[in-house]
Amino acid sequence: REAKRTQSHSVRYSQALGEAYREKLALRSRIEAALENGEFFLEWQPQFDLATGRMVGAEALLRWRDPVLNKVRLPGEFIPVSEETNLIILIDRYVIGEALKDARQLVQEIGPRFECAVNLSAKHLQEQGLPDRLFESLAAFGLSPSNLRFEITESALIHDARAAFGNLDRLNKAGIKFSLDDFGTGYASLNFLVNSCIDQVKIDRFFISDVLTSERKRAVVTSVVELSARLGLDCVAEGIEDQQQVDFLRARQCPRGQGFHLAKPMSRDDLIGLARSGAFADLTTVGEFASDD
Ligand code: C2E
Ligand code: MG
Ligand code: MG
Ligand code: MG
Repeated sequence: REAKRTQSHSVRYSQALGEAYREKLALRSRIEAALENGEFFLEWQPQFDLATGRMVGAEALLRWRDPVLNKVRLPGEFIPVSEETNLIILIDRYVIGEALKDARQLVQEIGPRFECAVNLSAKHLQEQGLPDRLFESLAAFGLSPSNLRFEITESALIHDARAAFGNLDRLNKAGIKFSLDDFGTGYASLNFLVNSCIDQVKIDRFFISDVLTSERKRAVVTSVVELSARLGLDCVAEGIEDQQQVDFLRARQCPRGQGFHLAKPMSRDDLIGLARSGAFADLTTVGEFASDD
């Protein structure tokens, strides 16, 4: 009887697994179709110089207008399942193509020093043909490498690190900049700060979200800002949701910020409109900053 119960248990278990697996496969084929049907699009979230309030760049974020669910879906719903297979490379290529197209216009309209940041998956960074393909695209779009920045996470440099580091080096030598994204949430973080191809650290929004109420998060953010400065790296705080966080970060001389409080992700044209309207001067008019701890 015991054996029988165990057996039916494992049958149910494998049925559930089978179902989850089938769902995953179905989602992947929907994503592939979505790429073919042009259901993906980009939004751009501005990044600001926290000292002056000036917009200095923007990050491309992928969106899926899903006609079946009849809503816009966020990357959390489709990037992780794509990252398990080479599907992520197809997605990344699409994103880079769209981002470079937008970027040329953004740079023309906003200014020659405007930086366009694109998230690059670990698998894609390891791909052999990536640098050559990118150089071709940059030339085709007439975009300077100095206007392009890739955001990578630590995981990109852990798996099959040799191929990744080789590409990183070639792309960086050509003038493309790299940021370490989601800093503090991965493994072996400090290790990668020593890599000379990386010139910017993005503090994960996990640390920013309760920065005012959590003494420990305050200590982490303060230290990472200082560490970046010592290493000569730029530092961006992600996920800024209120003015107190802005004040805190400015008091600690965090150079850059990004978050819903400053600006939400928006279309390329809205971004251009925003840049023209100079809507961010009010950030700099905040008077005193808390300078406790
Ligand atoms: P990420 O690169 O860390 O991007 C920042 C995420 O934080 C974005 O979420 C953005 O909308 C969100 N965010 C920005 N400010 C705030 C804020 O103040 N509060 C809160 N709660 N969230 C904020 P999104 O667009 O859902 O993207 C999630 C992740 O998906 C990204 O994290 C990135 O790792 C990945 N991703 C997005 N687009 C792409 C892409 O084109 N290619 C690849 N490979 N990954 C992408
Ligand atoms: Mg990012
Ligand atoms: Mg991030
Ligand atoms: Mg993140």
